[in-house]
Amino acid sequence: MRECSHAGRFGGLRAVNAGAIGATYRKPMTRIRFHGELNDLVPRRARNRPCEFRSAENATLKHAIEAFGVPHTEVGTVLVHGAPAPLDRRVEPGDTIDVHPAPAVEPADGPPESAEAPLEPAGARAQPAERPAFLADAHLGGLARRLRLLGFDTLLADDAPDEMLAERVDGDGRVLLSRDRELLKHRKVLRGRYVRAQRTDEQAKEVIRHFGLAPLARPFSRCLECNAPLRSATRQEVLERLPPDVAATHDAFTFCTGCGRVYWPGSHWRRLQAVVRALISEAPR
Ligand SMILES: [Zn+2]
Repeated sequence: MRECSHAGRFGGLRAVNAGAIGATYRKPMTRIRFHGELNDLVPRRARNRPCEFRSAENATLKHAIEAFGVPHTEVGTVLVHGAPAPLDRRVEPGDTIDVHPAPAVEPADGPPESAEAPLEPAGARAQPAERPAFLADAHLGGLARRLRLLGFDTLLADDAPDEMLAERVDGDGRVLLSRDRELLKHRKVLRGRYVRAQRTDEQAKEVIRHFGLAPLARPFSRCLECNAPLRSATRQEVLERLPPDVAATHDAFTFCTGCGRVYWPGSHWRRLQAVVRALISEAPR
């Protein structure tokens, strides 16, 4: 098996050339190996192979793992010498560390909500036991709209400093979605996901798959613009906001309880139905 021969400098860690260990250091090196999708995140030289490094004094497993570019939100089980260990455990010379990814959430039983019945009042539907809520960072606006389209409570962060975002996500239990690893490394971020995909629909499929969201989707129950819940409305209630041709040809409307936007099943809506179908039917279950 090939080993990582030189991992460079990572923050508080100093990786060294494995061939020079005996000549340079008396203490044994620490060995770390990343598993599964965590290999997407580590430097190429540490992928799919053990990597030896010399850790800083008092470094914890969290420090060591994050120094390789893996935010703690991505980590599932950590084994030290084969036994599970918490992230605040100190790293000792000679440790053998195996880092496994946070497992994907198993989807709940039951079929996804149909994209064909979008105008039923949201309150009339069964409420799944646990529906995650999200905070998407400011660069993931397209992803936030996709999750809202599927009915998931998704706030879009402004460009607030990391500290403020971390406080916010810590305070209300949301899952932070980001492509900013430094933000996800923040201690206060307990639940998060480093979004690997770069294109919006691929990002949405990745998040749906990872959090088992397909059976929990309630398409067209939340405003795409402001995230507030939608409710059904009569023509009379929304008449003054409708273009005349829409008022003459449609009977069913939904109304945003936040920003007042009115939705009706026109051509744009039908395009969104196709998006919904693609997102929830293609996600592996
Ligand atoms: Zn709205």
